Amino acid sequence: MSKNKQLPKVAYFCMEYGLDDSLKTYAGGLGILAGDYMKGAKDHNFPIIGIGLKWKQGYTDQLIGEDGRPYDSYHNYNYDFLEDTGIIVKVQIRQREVHCKVWKCEAFGNAPLYLLDTDLPQNADAWITGQLYGWFGEERIAQEMVLGIGGIKAIRALGLEVDLYHFNEGHALFAGFELLREKMEAGASFEQAVDQSKEEIVFTTHTPVIQGNESHPIDRLLYMGANLGLTVEQLVLLGGAPFNMTVGALRLSRKSNAVAQLHGETANKMWAHIDNRSEIVPITNAIHLPTWVDQNMITAAEQDGDLWEAHLKNKRELIEFVKERTGAQLQQDKLLIGFSRRAVPYKRANLIFSKPEIISPYLEDGRIQIVFSGKAHPLDDNGKQIVADLVAMSKKYPNAVVYVPNYDMATGAMLTRGSDVWLNNPRRPKEASGTSGMKAAINGVLNFSILDGWWPESCEHGVNGWQFGDAFESEIVKEQDDHDREALYKVLLEEVVPTYYNKQEKWVKMMKASILGNKDEFAVKRMLEEYYEKLYN
Ligand SMILES: *Cc1c(COP(=O)(O)O)cnc(C)c1O
Repeated sequence: MSKNKQLPKVAYFCMEYGLDDSLKTYAGGLGILAGDYMKGAKDHNFPIIGIGLKWKQGYTDQLIGEDGRPYDSYHNYNYDFLEDTGIIVKVQIRQREVHCKVWKCEAFGNAPLYLLDTDLPQNADAWITGQLYGWFGEERIAQEMVLGIGGIKAIRALGLEVDLYHFNEGHALFAGFELLREKMEAGASFEQAVDQSKEEIVFTTHTPVIQGNESHPIDRLLYMGANLGLTVEQLVLLGGAPFNMTVGALRLSRKSNAVAQLHGETANKMWAHIDNRSEIVPITNAIHLPTWVDQNMITAAEQDGDLWEAHLKNKRELIEFVKERTGAQLQQDKLLIGFSRRAVPYKRANLIFSKPEIISPYLEDGRIQIVFSGKAHPLDDNGKQIVADLVAMSKKYPNAVVYVPNYDMATGAMLTRGSDVWLNNPRRPKEASGTSGMKAAINGVLNFSILDGWWPESCEHGVNGWQFGDAFESEIVKEQDDHDREALYKVLLEEVVPTYYNKQEKWVKMMKASILGNKDEFAVKRMLEEYYEKLYN
């Protein structure tokens, strides 16, 4: 019997999918994970389908204005590579019928992905699938209703057989409400419907930042019609009041997972006070190697080829890319640090600049060059200030600091291949996983990172990269920042910089250790196998 006959058939629900830059259905790490998962499912022949939304304008195209501040720009995108399934399903939103067209995408070496689309002439609410993470509370619920409720209806209309529904993040929770509704309509009580639905739902929780876990006033759910007939008491039993989407998903699933070992500990502490919730097991994220990793680097590492030459080729490509996108000219023979992350305070993009008297001399003579990228959420003024500060730094040190606007998959791939070092300095333990570090590691780009997310699972300090901060944590933000800043400078200036300039042989040995030690452990095949073993079993 083939493997597929024995394995449960999984429908994966996610707000975003990062499959390719031409399909604007992603914003960041969540979408990249979902995209890599779908590609891995195809490569390794797992019986998985995906459900998502066809975003007309995607996430923001974020550019830098003349004043050095980011601004958001939106365009309508057309995708001629999507296949029309001919299916339209209807979802009642705010007591109005919304038609959702179902497209199928298999264009990027991925398992079948079905994308729902409300941009139809017959819809008064055609805007619902307009902007990913755009707008505000009611609109977000409308989008999540299309994803969850529309998604289940699409599965039924397409006649797809599904054993398990996997909600990647709480956004998809209304799919669980639709499963309850189906069972209650067929005669089950609420309690019976919950028990039965739980058996077929699994959940992946992501951000350990409380505010990142979406909640809504109960009234708003009722007004939108998202409750699908559930009473206020039943809603509160599931998600509390205000209604928390993560809590709801933890209570409506038979098992959940966190996205790294450390995140597993953090998530279990964070949700310890929630009763009747599913167990949270850690399954560390991974990446789709063909999308992110230069095979020449793996081959050179395995066959004792010239790793340094192979790396320099990638570094030159990055330098060329940076020149095209920004006009800045970086040097091939100087240390190049890459940093690309969402612009949010806890990721501390500015930490390396926070004692100018220490870092300036290195930036002035170009011994240290840094390339930044990363968008702020369109509604986040703090995040936009972080970007503006980075842009200001690039003007102050034009030969050493660069900000590449409009972070996308192409930028991510370039930076994680062509940098020498990958810097990551979140306030521990707020980084759930951090897959960009895996991309870097397997490309021979040495991680230089706080022990957060996936890095504690891989780091051998001075052997395959470096840690700094020794896993220090403090409730007092200033104390943590002061501590980590000192640690960053110490390791950077006493270990990273001298190794780069004076011990090239050791550097290349570290690159090799980084590639060989991470290429299997953090490849999507391992993650999928673990999902089947620990979550789908
Ligand atoms: C890899 C990637 C991410 C996720 O990386 P993190 O380490 O979680 O920041 C986000 N966005 C893009 C474009 C990527 O390529």
